[in-house]
Order: sequence, then C-alpha cells, then structure tokens
Amino acid sequence: MSFAATVLTLYPEMFPGPLGISLAGRALGEGKWSLDTVQIRDFAIDRHRTVDDTPAGGGAGMVLRVDVLAAAIDHALAMHPDCPVLAMTPRGRPLDQQRVRELAAGPGVTVLCGRFEGFDERIFAGRPIEEVSVGDVVLSGGEPAAIMLLDACVRLLPGVMGGAESGTEESFESGLLEYPHYTRPVEWEGRVIPDVLRSGDHAKIARWRREQAEADTRERRPDLWERYCPRG
Ligand code: SAH
Repeated sequence: MSFAATVLTLYPEMFPGPLGISLAGRALGEGKWSLDTVQIRDFAIDRHRTVDDTPAGGGAGMVLRVDVLAAAIDHALAMHPDCPVLAMTPRGRPLDQQRVRELAAGPGVTVLCGRFEGFDERIFAGRPIEEVSVGDVVLSGGEPAAIMLLDACVRLLPGVMGGAESGTEESFESGLLEYPHYTRPVEWEGRVIPDVLRSGDHAKIARWRREQAEADTRERRPDLWERYCPRG
C-alpha cells in the first residue's frame, strides 16, 4: 500500500501543483504515493454552500464553520481511518524532520487547509486532529503549508530519492545543520574550494564536515545546538 495523501481544501485546483513536478511528481506517477483532494465546500449544508461565518465576539475576517469542517473530516476519516488528520495553522506545533519521518513511515496523512481567519476552535476538541505550523509566518491559506508538509514526507518514501545516503546526512537528521557543499569550478571569482575537500583523504574530509556542521549549527541555530549538546 502506498502513502495516501488526502487534502481538504477550498482550492483543490492548487494540487498537485508543485507536487506534480520533479521527484514528487515522478513518484506520484509511479504510484509510490497517491494524492486526493476533498472540496470542503461540498460539505456545506445550506443552499448557498456557505463554509464560513463571522467571528463570534466580532472582529475582522471570517471563520471556517465547525459543522462543515466536521463533515469534510468525517468523510476523509471514513476513506482513510488509519491516516492522522493534520490541520495547518500557525497556532500548531512547529513541524520538524522527526515528525515528518514518523508521518512518512505511516499509511499517509489527511491534511486540512484553513483559509480566512482559520478554524472554529471547537473542531480540535470534537475530532482527533493534530495542529501543525510550518513556521512563525502567516500564510494566506493552508495549501502552501500542506504542499510543504507533503513534499517533505514524499521525498522520504522508499524508492523516491536517488541516493539512499543523501537522506541520512541531511540537515536536522543528526540534530545538526548539514555541512556546506561545493562543486566545480575549483576557483570562482578568486574563491577556492576548501583544500581538504580536494585531498582525497576521506577520514579528514569526514572530520572537516563534522566540524563545519557543528560550527554552523552553533552560530546559525543556537536553539538546535542547545538541544544537540547534551548528547554530543
Ligand atoms: N488568523 C490566523 C491566521 C489565518 S491564515 C492566525 O493569526 O493564527 C489562514 C490559513 O492559512 C490558516 O487557517 C492556516 O490553514 C494557514 N496558515 C497560515 N500560516 C500558517 C503557518 N505558519 N503554518 C501552517 N498553516 C498556516
């Protein structure tokens, strides 16, 4: 059984979008994963097919109705009862590579995309939903966040990425940022590739990469470094 992605959205035409291209697109064509969209509006209950309403307590914008969301989620859960439901929201737990790895090892994901001001909060109490943020930024909708999440999962699926190794050395996999890369030309505008990388001494290269990864993490991501240190 291949990884089953289901996206609940008001804009199904945004999919597969970037996920239909390159690595993810090829894997989709090969059946290594599947992608279905569910139009949230199909679960509206009035004849105007309304999905949103004004916020209780007043204020700007519109809020996605809990009854409509529940109907759409129940539909997806009936299709894929084993897939976790992830709602894209800046209020969620920040997505990280560890969670992506767990999701990619599972049967698939059902992704709920918000629009407007977001979701009626009661949906999170009424249905089993994991709230996920893709960073401390505000997007206009959950679709780009869903594309990011799915892209991160799909590249980890068996047989999707060319070199098996390039998955394990990647940034975050070891708790560190990855070391920097270089390629030809050896000299560019007076800047030369570090000598050690041309030494052919694999042990020395491995040591240099390790040191670079540590130094860069310490400098660029003190938060990651802090978490890494107790182990290191
Ligand atoms: N009023 C909300 C933002 C709504 S943005 C707030 O301030 O928290 C509209 C939709 O875009 C959200 O419902 C969510 O689905 C999506 N979105 C925006 N930023 C996001 C982020 N950082 N991570 C995941 N989804 C996001």
